[in-house]
Amino acid sequence: MTDPAALRSARPLLAYSLADLEARVVELGGRAFHARVVRKAVLEQGVLEYADMTSLSADLRARLDAEIPILAAVESARTVANDGTTKLLLSFPPREGGRDKPATIEVVHMPSLKPTEEDEVGATLCVSTQAGCPVACPFCASGLAGLDRNLDAHEILEQYVRGRALGPLKRSVVMGIGEPFLNLPAVTAALDVVHDEMGLGSRKITVSTVGFPDRLHRAARDNPRYQLAISLHTPDDEQRAELVPAMAGTTVDEILEAGDDWFQQTGREVTYEYALLGGVNDSVGHVQRLAEKLRGRRCTVNVIPYNPSESLPFHRPSSAAVEAFQTRLQEAGVVATVRWSRGLDGAAACGQLRSRNLD
Ligand code: SF4
Repeated sequence: MTDPAALRSARPLLAYSLADLEARVVELGGRAFHARVVRKAVLEQGVLEYADMTSLSADLRARLDAEIPILAAVESARTVANDGTTKLLLSFPPREGGRDKPATIEVVHMPSLKPTEEDEVGATLCVSTQAGCPVACPFCASGLAGLDRNLDAHEILEQYVRGRALGPLKRSVVMGIGEPFLNLPAVTAALDVVHDEMGLGSRKITVSTVGFPDRLHRAARDNPRYQLAISLHTPDDEQRAELVPAMAGTTVDEILEAGDDWFQQTGREVTYEYALLGGVNDSVGHVQRLAEKLRGRRCTVNVIPYNPSESLPFHRPSSAAVEAFQTRLQEAGVVATVRWSRGLDGAAACGQLRSRNLD
């Protein structure tokens, strides 16, 4: 459990706009352009200590260090799996003068397993957008205790800064704790900085949502700088209402139509994610009905064998069952991939480390 006294309350660097930072740096005795130097060092070069910004005077570095913390969160826990996957548990302090709750989230850094010469060097970073999640999928530890609060843009951005401190990044998935489309202004603001100042291209960033059709239709018109993944999990309306409770009342067809609209507006294909739960949504009938729904659509299905969580009554299908599901989809004419999970020895299921610590 995080000690609240350990949480810092000063406004952190990543919460400043450039204009605000310039004004503050001048107040602290620096010149306006020093703000750009600081921002560039942190976001472009991954420098996390003012002491290492040697182009600034020692006086200014000391004043910045005393007044503007570079990072806001406390790292409460860290697990490192045998495959190099690192999961950080971060606690951000309350906002609004302390009336808000602290926000405890996970960020996961997954280095490439078998880098080849053609591979870009770097890891995939999975970031969170909310502390807890109001969608309450019954197979997900993140949804167990509901929503504490949305993250601010700087709190999402800090996950990238901390992730890069663990090693270079080559792509990012916004698939951690929370539903990004319920906090989209903050997500978009953070991803704009990741794109513009940290150099991660829009094809290297994927945002994963449960697929609120209205929000998807609106966002598609804003020329978003990310790829879209929609967590579908089943072709059947009734079962989807059970697996994704916040979407009860929205049909699978409405979601697929929003995905089609996204493709038409942005020119980028949608990936449909399918968490494969043993004995729940992995039958031959599920494959047939899913293939029927997707036939003729430009999209990919990403089958994700379920990552078991100790407190939840779901299990992962056998490898043979996962492969059979994928093969049947492919034979039915649907492009299908399998994403095997990483870091199984490191509390890998989404929200597992957080729920253990909140307990
Ligand atoms: S699976 Fe995603 S949307 Fe569902 S409760 Fe977990 S974090 Fe929320």
